[in-house]
Amino acid sequence: KGTQAQYLVEKYELLHISTGDLLRSELKAATPLGLEAKKYIDKGELVPDEVVIGMISSQLDQNIGKVKGFIFDGFPRTKAQAEALDKLLDFKNTAITQVLALDVPEEEVVARIMNRGLTSGRSDDNNQEIIKNRFSVYLNETTAVAEHYKEFDKYSSIPGIGTIEEVFKSLTEAIEALS
Ligand code: AMP
Repeated sequence: KGTQAQYLVEKYELLHISTGDLLRSELKAATPLGLEAKKYIDKGELVPDEVVIGMISSQLDQNIGKVKGFIFDGFPRTKAQAEALDKLLDFKNTAITQVLALDVPEEEVVARIMNRGLTSGRSDDNNQEIIKNRFSVYLNETTAVAEHYKEFDKYSSIPGIGTIEEVFKSLTEAIEALS
């Protein structure tokens, strides 16, 4: 998702907001928030909702009106986060345009993350148990986000299998179909 988000940012001139990247930079700077988040990240669990919602709220405050739009990457990941995001955006007189969900089977996700783990230096990329836990957290908590946006007709499932170019083509086709 990070790779595709980068390409989308270039094509549509959006601001990329990845909660994972924000948390990892807090961790690197050893801030209290980063050290608290590490406990969850290292187990493949979700960081508490109020922590990530607070980070997103301050990103919106800093950037709304200054950029063409946003791509949220890895957020929202729970129904509570989705509802909080909708409220924050509504307060700023805007809303989510569309959710683009990359659909990739579990075996492929595990293989890709293990491969990234060879170079990423991420502790959560190197351990098969942690990766499996991340996948089950996704099934338990994040599928509710899909349901939430389906209700508003704002959800597109995009095949995430194929080359980077093929996946990017499917994403841009889904985006162009919106206008
Ligand atoms: P990612 O970079 O999106 O793979 O996220 C890496 C880790 O950061 C996740 O396994 C969670 O521990 C944490 N994280 C990232 N985004 C969120 C979020 N929206 N809510 C809770 N935890 C998150």
